[in-house]
Amino acid sequence: MYKCKLCGRYIEDLTEDLATRILEHLEKHEEYANCSDYKEYNTDALIEKFFIYIPNSCTISYDANNNPIVVISDVRFSNRNIDWTEIKEYLMEYIDSSYEVIETSDIIYIGSDFPKEIKGSADTIRLKGANIKAKANATQEIPVLLSFANNKRWQENLKTKHNTDAKYGWYRFTTRFALPVYLENGEIERFNIFRIEMLVRHASDDKLYLYDMVNIKKETSNPLEP
Ligand SMILES: [Zn+2]
Repeated sequence: MYKCKLCGRYIEDLTEDLATRILEHLEKHEEYANCSDYKEYNTDALIEKFFIYIPNSCTISYDANNNPIVVISDVRFSNRNIDWTEIKEYLMEYIDSSYEVIETSDIIYIGSDFPKEIKGSADTIRLKGANIKAKANATQEIPVLLSFANNKRWQENLKTKHNTDAKYGWYRFTTRFALPVYLENGEIERFNIFRIEMLVRHASDDKLYLYDMVNIKKETSNPLEP
């Protein structure tokens, strides 16, 4: 993916319309929009001028209905006991970054409350077995999971403790990912497919913030071939 040097936002490059999204993004910046010289630049030159390339550690696959699945190849958390303190620590690095949901163009920020919330939420605490491992491993690819999320829906906030940080309610997006299952010889036997809801709060500053990843479910259909 590409990180904008002007605002720090990430643009996912795993889709075909990268050039369009690069231009749409730059139009929002006066540095670009007010300088006619840049209109002569091609996409590669614009990327070099305004973006930093950050390699993706995952790939995107598509199921039979052409819906995207984020393939997480590194099963970093495979122990029975997941160390959520370690996860919380590395999620701190994401704080203040923001990612665009490709389908809706929503910009979703990672707020300072997210690492603590995902570590200790009721959703995380109730999970067991394959689902808790899958949720832990999904935290490695939050930018791409947000980029490819869809099925956006809204709920009013009913909890007074969230009157400010979710003043305008809650959104849920669904996103899907695949985790490899390894044979004893280290080869991949198959992929398990999961879906998870990205729970997003619409705060009083009118920005969207990722709050938790909830209601993970393993899909029984649509197996991916290794
Ligand atoms: Zn920017």
